[in-house]
Amino acid sequence: MRQNLSGYKGLAGMAGYLDFRDARCKDCYKCLRGCPAKAIEVVGRHAKIIEKRCVLCGKCTRLCPQNAKAVHSELEKAERLLAAPAGVIASVAPSFVTSFGVRDFALMRLALGKIGFADAEETAVGARAVTEEYRRLLVSGGYRNFITSSCPAVNTMIQLYYPAALEFLAPVDSPMTAHAKLLRVRYPDAKIIFIGPCIAKKKEAEEGGIIDCVLTFEELNEMLAKKGVVPSDIARIKADGDTEENPARFYPISRGIIKSFKEYPSGYEYVAVDGIERCNEVLKNIGSLSGMFLELNSCEYACVNGPCALSAPGGAVKANEDIRIYAKKNEGGGAVKLPGGNPTLLCARKRLRPNEYVPTEREIREILARTGKRVESDELNCGACGYNTCREKAWAVANGYAVTEMCVPYMRERAESMSYEIIQNSPNGIMLLDGDFHITEINAKAMELFGIDEKSVRGRDAGDFFNPSDFVIAYDKGENVYKKKLYVHKTARHVELTIVILSAHKVLFGVMKDITAEENYNVRLNSVKLETFAITDEVIKKQMRVAQEIASLLGETTAETKVALLKLKKTIGKDGAD
Ligand code: SF4
Ligand code: SF4
Ligand code: SF4
Repeated sequence: MRQNLSGYKGLAGMAGYLDFRDARCKDCYKCLRGCPAKAIEVVGRHAKIIEKRCVLCGKCTRLCPQNAKAVHSELEKAERLLAAPAGVIASVAPSFVTSFGVRDFALMRLALGKIGFADAEETAVGARAVTEEYRRLLVSGGYRNFITSSCPAVNTMIQLYYPAALEFLAPVDSPMTAHAKLLRVRYPDAKIIFIGPCIAKKKEAEEGGIIDCVLTFEELNEMLAKKGVVPSDIARIKADGDTEENPARFYPISRGIIKSFKEYPSGYEYVAVDGIERCNEVLKNIGSLSGMFLELNSCEYACVNGPCALSAPGGAVKANEDIRIYAKKNEGGGAVKLPGGNPTLLCARKRLRPNEYVPTEREIREILARTGKRVESDELNCGACGYNTCREKAWAVANGYAVTEMCVPYMRERAESMSYEIIQNSPNGIMLLDGDFHITEINAKAMELFGIDEKSVRGRDAGDFFNPSDFVIAYDKGENVYKKKLYVHKTARHVELTIVILSAHKVLFGVMKDITAEENYNVRLNSVKLETFAITDEVIKKQMRVAQEIASLLGETTAETKVALLKLKKTIGKDGAD
């Protein structure tokens, strides 16, 4: 049913910008449960990102307990650019302060110089220009609501899933793109590498075409480590003329964009929302809002807590404080000067369509029925499969993103009923006893062998029905029993008993093979053998008697013959000799 329409173009060497490592993924659906765009499919029991649905918010990378995240690396590309003669300028997101533990951009610039960058600037310079552009648009009016556009994950979310919010999305470049445009004016031939905590920026840069490479803070950390450069260890140097005030340095924290305004254009309520779920909540209700300036950031606490930021002691709250201190450090100084050139920072954001298959109601019902959901009340909507509702999961199955077996209650029920069927239909007697020798499970054959005819024996003491001493001894000694032969007087049955101790569950698993026919046969065989032995013995004895008689008769005859012959010889001898 799934249509094969191409999604976003990935980067070379990896299917997309983000994925999971198969070897690490343990098929737990935690990422899928948390994904706000349901942009994860499970293929061959491994989670995979569906690129055309993914907004690159990075939430799944935080949720994965196996740390299976695999972000497309641009390290090699960065190293190639740095080795080329063109010269590379770095645009560094202000959250470097928390990731690298330095509160002075001059130190960061020095560190970048040590690994080959020709120069480096704060992306906050671009952010300053973006705030200016926001202010200009707000003053010019015409917006019922105004959604800021600095977070590419939110922008993509709107473009893909909230078309009604598109008209409110500021048609302004992100600080990264704005800064790159400003840098381009001054360094037309240089290469530009953006460095920040965000995965979504990789896609934004690839699509924009103005930035040559994007490194995450994790990637930069790797590069610095390779060359043995630790920014926080670089001796404090004079702050390189950094005396200008730039409130756009607040950008990486929640409410940072709002704080970057020197004065607020009137007619708007200025509200900041962080975390992708809360953003979605606002976007869902955008039609009912008016007069709102909405600063939306997909990461909780905003970019300072981006998916590829380096974790620092104190976590996101401390990081927030570090940014506040950094952004305020030149308060009262002259306003940061925007470089000239005046490139346009306006951009158009189109609606994006994942172009998915829309299953009919009949198809949805047919898929639901595969997991035993025939009427509405069968739909548990428990979310264990990763989807919010059973119907949502059926939609994913129709699109090839999910498989029937992901329904956990259905699979458990099926497994339980299968094991029940297997136990009940086993030709051998099967019983489970708990550590107190109560019957927790018993099949019909075991009941027959022990002559148990009561209906409800589960939970009852095994001793009420048979002698459980073999189970007790096995459990006490901690030793399994193999093929011990027993005779059950009550039923006159011979049984071969095997007991396996499932220590982890404090359960004894007993298997009883009915060997009555075999044992009875052996008894019959023995009696036939004894009878045959007796007959054979009698025959031998008789034969011996006959043989002895024959022998004695033969002996007599021989003696008589001998005497006669000797007589004859003697007679003949006497006559001959004379
Ligand atoms: S969270 Fe997702 S990627 Fe991580 S182990 Fe679970 S299913 Fe796999
Ligand atoms: S990055 Fe965000 S949208 Fe993409 S798969 Fe992960 S959680 Fe879903
Ligand atoms: S009942 Fe199954 S399909 Fe429905 S939400 Fe739960 S796991 Fe998903």
